[in-house]
Amino acid sequence: MDTAKNMEGVAIDPTTILKNCGLKRTLGRVKILDILIELDRPITGKELLNRLGTDAVDPASVYRTLNVFFDLEVVHKIEGADNINRYALNRGEDMHPHFTCRTCGKMECLTMTTFPHIDIDSMEEGYLVERESISLVGLCPRCRL
Ligand SMILES: [Zn+2]
Ligand SMILES: [Zn+2]
Repeated sequence: MDTAKNMEGVAIDPTTILKNCGLKRTLGRVKILDILIELDRPITGKELLNRLGTDAVDPASVYRTLNVFFDLEVVHKIEGADNINRYALNRGEDMHPHFTCRTCGKMECLTMTTFPHIDIDSMEEGYLVERESISLVGLCPRCRL
């Protein structure tokens, strides 16, 4: 397998990611990052736990780690149509829409698609926008066949 790279073509690996955000290198964090790097698409905590298999000693600590990664902007979090959050590694890409296949349920980051500019400044006063997202739902190329 080729070494994973970010949008600037810089190689990404768990050790570097953890060092850059000032987190201690623990086996659990490394294994979670390995999976997120390899998959390259947003996954639910449950799918992550399944992939960790017997390595997931404590589901609560896996979810805690995901939240720490989110707070430190290591991952972005997207809520699916099923209201379940999915997590994907940040690779230095711009804000992007996400596509969910209604047949296989897989979500993908549409990093090549531009996110429409929403003029938040023109909104009435008093609103605090905490999250912006654009979700596309349909059939992925594999399920469309
Ligand atoms: Zn599909
Ligand atoms: Zn994404």
